[in-house]
Amino acid sequence: MPSAKANPRYANGALRRKYRARMAAMGGACGICKGRLGPIRYDEPSDAAHPLSFVIDEIRPVSRWRQFGYASPRAAAEDWDNLQPAHWICNARKGAGTGTQAQKNIKEINIPDGSW
Ligand SMILES: [Zn+2]
Repeated sequence: MPSAKANPRYANGALRRKYRARMAAMGGACGICKGRLGPIRYDEPSDAAHPLSFVIDEIRPVSRWRQFGYASPRAAAEDWDNLQPAHWICNARKGAGTGTQAQKNIKEINIPDGSW
């Protein structure tokens, strides 16, 4: 499938779905905001209408695979240790940047103190 090579993120859809299911079963907090925006809504569809829904976030961006010593973009996308659960909105804000930049962006959002 030539199109699969164009986007390493979807090179192995079956494996990604398995990872997704495993991560959802673990039910962890968002790795980007560390749960500051609340728990991930694992039962909601992953789209812009559900900003707290669940997506898989690559800790080390797949686009920078060489920099992080991966053999290929696909290797970075399929490395379980490189993946963490995240809110849809946190992942969208992170974009191709680093986690540090994402943290900075999160801090700019007005978050009510709540239970903290
Ligand atoms: Zn988050």
